[in-house]
Amino acid sequence: MRGAGNKGLLLLFALIALATLFFSYQQLSRSTDDSGSLISLDGRTMGTGYRVLLQADEAFNSSVNAELQAAIETRLVILDKTIFSTYVPDSEISVFNQADQGVFNASPEFITVLQRALEIHRLSDGAFDPSLKPVVDLWGFGTQVGRQEVPSPDVLAAVFGLKGLTDIRISSNAGTVQKKSGVAIDLSGIAKGFAVDEIGKLLEERGISNFLVEIGGEVLSVGNRPDGAPWQLGIERPVAGKTELLQPIRAHSEKMAVAGSGNYRNYFVHEGQRYSHIIDPRTGWPVSHELLSVTVIAESTMEADAWATALFVLGPEAGVRLANELQLAAYFALDNGAGIQSRHSDAFNRYL
Ligand code: AMP
Ligand code: MG
Repeated sequence: MRGAGNKGLLLLFALIALATLFFSYQQLSRSTDDSGSLISLDGRTMGTGYRVLLQADEAFNSSVNAELQAAIETRLVILDKTIFSTYVPDSEISVFNQADQGVFNASPEFITVLQRALEIHRLSDGAFDPSLKPVVDLWGFGTQVGRQEVPSPDVLAAVFGLKGLTDIRISSNAGTVQKKSGVAIDLSGIAKGFAVDEIGKLLEERGISNFLVEIGGEVLSVGNRPDGAPWQLGIERPVAGKTELLQPIRAHSEKMAVAGSGNYRNYFVHEGQRYSHIIDPRTGWPVSHELLSVTVIAESTMEADAWATALFVLGPEAGVRLANELQLAAYFALDNGAGIQSRHSDAFNRYL
């Protein structure tokens, strides 16, 4: 998971978050009076911001809100610092990464996310690859922040050779994960979505049935806004430095889980060439095509998060093809020189 030092990513997510929420706020302020019917709890986690929007009603008062926010923060600290942060040396993922081999006791959360990451790796024909951590680091988008440069071919080849997931064995019954090689994993492409789902669960367990949770642009909305209409989400126009709406998302069910991946904020430029933080596992190089962002709507935010990253790697043609094959709802924004254009999978039609 990213650390606060990666400003590019912070900006990326902060602004995507603003875009989606900007839109819901706009709708809210148009449709509700200023009666304080919306509660917003926010803070920082996973190197980015989080926000929880709730309907205020008689059940809420300031002490309930403070207690609820403390519970949310406690849960987020566990998910980030204790489990998924590659920046914390004694987090579960860091301990796993530092060892050459062994059998590790793993939390249910780690097992759930790793298991789904491996499945999406397989379903995406390797496009989603959590074993790219050393490559992500080498390009300067991981834990070694600050040295964003094109690596030498020899070093890249050596580091690229470390990837591979075949030596990882998960035993859910025993609660263990085994590794037989020095592979290091990075679950940044899926863990934020999982954390959103977990906060959603926490709220539901407390009997809250109308809320919106967002971490770094990955969003889960359940139920309605205070005015009784569904929460309104939108896809940001993929332009750095601006927060504009590209495409509103038609709310379709009680529950909407939406996540995006993009290359238009977290990148560096070297000799006129743009290098983004999403790596193509076939080459070890940052993905380079006309795609600017992919937005996925799925059953869970974890699912949407991982697929957005995977489809981003695959690009507009293969990405739309796979999304149609697997009936994933995906929206692709691209620029092939003629301005921003879009494509979407068949399953996305209902959200337009
Ligand atoms: P996201 O913003 O959800 O698309 O996740 C991007 C992050 O996932 C990057 O910053 C890397 O840490 C990691 N990553 C990069 N390339 C891949 C890939 N091909 N598969 C999975 N994770 C990746
Ligand atoms: Mg993702």
